Amino acid sequence: MVENKIKLAIGLGSTCAGCDIAILDLKEKIFDLVALADIVFWPTAMDFKLSELEKFNENEIDISLYHGTVRTSEHEHIAHLLRERSKVIIAFGSCSCFGGIPGLCNVTDREGIFNTIYKETPSTVNPEFVTPKTETVVNKHNLTLPELHNDGKALNQVIDVDYYLPGCPPPVELIEKLLPIIKEFIDTGNLPPKGTVIASEKTLCDECPLEKKGKMISKIIRPHEIIPDPTRCLLEQGILCMGPATRGGCGAMCINALMPCRGCMGPTSEVKDQGAKMIGAIASILGVENEKDFSDEDVEKLMDQIKDPLGTFYRFTLPVALVNKRIKERR
Ligand code: SF4
Ligand code: SF4
Ligand code: SF4
Repeated sequence: MVENKIKLAIGLGSTCAGCDIAILDLKEKIFDLVALADIVFWPTAMDFKLSELEKFNENEIDISLYHGTVRTSEHEHIAHLLRERSKVIIAFGSCSCFGGIPGLCNVTDREGIFNTIYKETPSTVNPEFVTPKTETVVNKHNLTLPELHNDGKALNQVIDVDYYLPGCPPPVELIEKLLPIIKEFIDTGNLPPKGTVIASEKTLCDECPLEKKGKMISKIIRPHEIIPDPTRCLLEQGILCMGPATRGGCGAMCINALMPCRGCMGPTSEVKDQGAKMIGAIASILGVENEKDFSDEDVEKLMDQIKDPLGTFYRFTLPVALVNKRIKERR
């Protein structure tokens, strides 16, 4: 037990709570965490109220983690509260770092979502088209009902963020890296440089155990269509693996189970747009760069084999992607 324990808060936006479970996956190391930190706010785990968070003074909380996409007025309120009350904010998990899976809502808008969910699905019976409120209102029980925003946002699109710990959910080995960071902060007051991503600076391909031979492919194969060779790069076997466009640090978890990477760690620091980077990687492995070998029709046929390109290339990063702006303009 250290003498000067820090105050730690864990706030949330639109979340599946997998990030909370990942913290619990620390198992006995959670005792190391609570030896260093008093958890002063963690509503998923205990009965904390927002009003308790509101009572903290400016910078009174030492470190706050925020997981989930910023999707409603309440999520935004929590993000601002944590920023005001905390010395350090860490975007925890891919929803918070890049917008994540809930950020795929940005392919449409609030009206489109309401129409689909509350009107058009075959199982919906809603003749009066009752939908959630679109403005922040206080109901008869004096409860403030949050407003659903048009867009899902990454945390740094709403507040200033100090550090990032990506992953969906963040791998336990990376969460463990927070412990010495917190210890160092307690002992010396020192912290890593602002903007540090607590993960590898290399791509997943750099840490992948499978063999790459630089082989071209002529067909894209979905994972259930073949039993892949367990020794060879999945992408070179035609299976779409996001490894070339994805930050390492997860220990190639999916690859070790012979499943392609879905890109949950987001891009490396040099890459602005994970999807664009992956499209480039696919173009080169398809040999599209050798234009004389491929007609436009051939390329189109190959690209047609990619089901749901947006969900494949931007599954975790749409709100921060360059294409997000174009989609918004077209809406
Ligand atoms: S990053 Fe993944 S695990 Fe964490 S809240 Fe988002 S969807 Fe859930
Ligand atoms: S593309 Fe996927 S399977 Fe191939 S080396 Fe990269 S991470 Fe490994
Ligand atoms: S292999 Fe890819 S999808 Fe799987 S945990 Fe690692 S980064 Fe995430």
